[in-house]
Amino acid sequence: MNIHEYQGKDILREFGVSVPNGHVAYTVDEAVEAAEKLGSGVTVVKAQIHAGGRGKAGGVKIAKNADEVRTYADEILGKTLVTHQTGPEGKEVKRLLIEEGCDIKSEYYVGLVLDRATSRVTMMASEEGGTEIEEVAAATPEKIFKEVIDPVVGLTPFQARRLAFNINIPKEQISKAVKFMMGLYKVFVEKDCSIAEINPLVTTGDGDVMALDAKLNFDDNALYRQKDVQELRDLDEEDPKEVEASKYDLSYIALDGNIGCMVNGAGLAMATMDTIKHYGGDPANFLDVGGGATTEKVTEAFKIILSDEHVKGIFVNIFGGIMKCDVIAEGVVEATKQIGLTLPLVVRLEGTNVEQGKKILDESGLNITSADSMADGAQKIVELVK
Ligand code: ADP
Ligand code: MG
Repeated sequence: MNIHEYQGKDILREFGVSVPNGHVAYTVDEAVEAAEKLGSGVTVVKAQIHAGGRGKAGGVKIAKNADEVRTYADEILGKTLVTHQTGPEGKEVKRLLIEEGCDIKSEYYVGLVLDRATSRVTMMASEEGGTEIEEVAAATPEKIFKEVIDPVVGLTPFQARRLAFNINIPKEQISKAVKFMMGLYKVFVEKDCSIAEINPLVTTGDGDVMALDAKLNFDDNALYRQKDVQELRDLDEEDPKEVEASKYDLSYIALDGNIGCMVNGAGLAMATMDTIKHYGGDPANFLDVGGGATTEKVTEAFKIILSDEHVKGIFVNIFGGIMKCDVIAEGVVEATKQIGLTLPLVVRLEGTNVEQGKKILDESGLNITSADSMADGAQKIVELVK
């Protein structure tokens, strides 16, 4: 799960990690009020969307007085911001962060991620802050320094110090930078983050070290024990189809093809998508209905698939292990009738009671094409959507 920058900064502040003062604003008046409350000479008006690259896209503006705050807030609120992370359709700005302007001396990068190769949390840092870290990684990888963190010991002060030296933080600020990194690691572990990225981390004219940007992502599997984080979820930022799917415990990810897929089990779902691709088709989604696919779940899954206007046909590929094929077939028939499905539908069932299942499909009187194997089903649906 992803949250907004201002929410991430609230969490950092709570853990004693240094960030500028700021307030969230939903309207232009609130923005001006927030700026007055801050009372800083220079105020920064920042678009709050779940995507980076806002600065380059005109979503971060420096205001020198209340009038400018009003002008910029008015300009940014309601605007659809297109950054390299939003995709071409962009994201509409509904919230602003009104923040104290900061006297930046230098910008750095500090990030924590889980490195799957070493199965360890890793802190990365670079003196090339402000720019996209992916670009630094591609062009000058030697400018990114890493510390692999032992899960038992945690980030040690000497590792943080080594990073701070490596990225050339001035020696007067090293101890502040170390405190910052230690605090950031504490946030990462205690809040079950999957990413904690500060770009830029800055040193200031007053000799401070603070986070000017904050991107925190959380591990969905740990959200059950992070109730306060769960409350920060902003559904406006998520694909409505994916939100709907999560209500029914369906794992759904929208893609840009035209063949809707309904599969049980993530592995089979991946294999199904690969097979469709192999036969020249394009999957419209990844959808795992899970082990206990009830009629209700199957119906909801159909509805979600069909709410995508690009879908021209559906391929159901289900393995009846715990669930029996006849039960699944009944669910598919029932759901198809309820929805009044008119698009081509190919169903491939395998597993327990597969013969009864196929019989139910064949005798349903509905326009369902049954398939004998995954390859057969994929070929049939690719042909039908052409
Ligand atoms: P994004 O990464 O989405 O472009 P950032 O929060 O990193 O957004 O802001 C972009 C740039 O704007 C920063 O690199 C920094 O130079 C400047 N900036 C951001 N916040 C402030 C602030 N409070 N004071 C001064 N400059 C800021
Ligand atoms: Mg940034």
